[in-house]
Amino acid sequence: MSVRVRFAPSPTGYLHIGGLRTALYNYLFARHNNGKFILRIEDTDRSRYVEGAIENLINSLKWVGIDFDEGPGKDGMFGPYIQSERLDIYKHYANILLESGWAYRAFDTPEEIEEMRKRLSEAKLDSKYDRMNMKNELTMSQRDVNELINKGTPYVIRLKIPEGEIKFYDIIRGEVIVSCKEIDDQVLLKSDAYPTYHLANVVDDHLMKITHVIRGEEWLPSTPKHIILYDAFKWEKPEFAHLPLLLNKDKSKLSKRQGDVALEDYIQKGYFKEAIINFVALLGWNPSGDREIYSLQELIDSFDLRKVNKSGAVFDIQKLDWMNGYYLRHSDDRILVEKLKDVLERISLSYPNEDYLYKVIHLFKDRVSFIHQIPEIADYMFNKPAEYEKEYLEKHWDRSKLPLILNLLEKLKISDFTHDNLQNNVKAFCEEKNIKLKEIIHPLRLMITGKSSGAGMFETMEVLGKEECIERIVKFINSIE
Ligand code: GLU
Repeated sequence: MSVRVRFAPSPTGYLHIGGLRTALYNYLFARHNNGKFILRIEDTDRSRYVEGAIENLINSLKWVGIDFDEGPGKDGMFGPYIQSERLDIYKHYANILLESGWAYRAFDTPEEIEEMRKRLSEAKLDSKYDRMNMKNELTMSQRDVNELINKGTPYVIRLKIPEGEIKFYDIIRGEVIVSCKEIDDQVLLKSDAYPTYHLANVVDDHLMKITHVIRGEEWLPSTPKHIILYDAFKWEKPEFAHLPLLLNKDKSKLSKRQGDVALEDYIQKGYFKEAIINFVALLGWNPSGDREIYSLQELIDSFDLRKVNKSGAVFDIQKLDWMNGYYLRHSDDRILVEKLKDVLERISLSYPNEDYLYKVIHLFKDRVSFIHQIPEIADYMFNKPAEYEKEYLEKHWDRSKLPLILNLLEKLKISDFTHDNLQNNVKAFCEEKNIKLKEIIHPLRLMITGKSSGAGMFETMEVLGKEECIERIVKFINSIE
């Protein structure tokens, strides 16, 4: 039997990092096993409807390079892949359960349900649906039921949880056993004829021939209800794997309060998709020991659900930043130049030409984790320094240096303004004056960049060019003297 897995998000408006991890693990599993990866939109909770959310989700998956085989906008034998377009199907299956006695109609009003909850909570009982004391097919005569139906009284369809216990095997967690006493008579079809998550999810997983359900741990408590549904329909069950929770550094559940959780935020901050994929893939699994850097193909080749951890995975943003730096250093300069162009446009900095940007990238690619850090640490590559770091200035400048610098200025007027040549000339100059190289390098850095640190000074000067360097030195002398 060939593997078929699905990512089944509710379109909330953005792709949560946890959702991305679920999508990625499904994708890796499918590709590793030459199976199919399906995208199914679970949008039956109309109160949570967000305009444009589906397009947004599809674009996010596309951006990271997770392509699906079947789903909205793609061919596939099991569509439609958007649940709100499958309402008749769910109704049909809810009716089958009514007929077989696995489900029943319940006519309670929201107020009556509220009262029941209060009553149970006062009696310190579980607030599960009190099947035998409420208004439903199990407590009413068939005549009364028919009368209510004929009058058009709204009703929900509830699953009749059997007695005993539910057992299932989870690939990551092993055997799971839950007592039916702990399971509520779940509403399957609401009075507006929309299914709940449980009915729609199980019906679709069956009809779409899903072989493995791979999803977040937060869905584990739903699985016993799903098992009961599979048994009720006499359907073969898929295999289950519940992925570990994502945690903040303090081991609390990953939340917006402690940082960004939407993929979009990370895209906007300038993370590389390769870094995001690599990082998210290792949230709960590592193909082998200490190695941290994996390409998507390597992740596919080594993916093994059985090796996914049970315990929560800590979301360590510093590790992600480190990975981003790695991918930046190993990226093609063409891609980096395009990114730098975008950044410069956003902050309205101009540059002489594209060739100049290649040189800037070359200078700084080993020194940053993000392209936007280049104009942050080295704005002087795009503007003459507007100010000079105070401490650096005090340490490396005093008036007595002026004759020396004026003298040096003449030596810089060389035709071949390359870093090698500059270095040779300045070295010779220092020897002639009997001073140490750093006695010249620091003032040069100060005058030309205004900052105490940066890339190699002669390399920086070469990129800035002769005219610009001389102008800066003159500007400094004029402004300081
Ligand atoms: N619609 C659920 C979600 O939003 C799907 C859970 C599952 O994969 O069964 O994540």
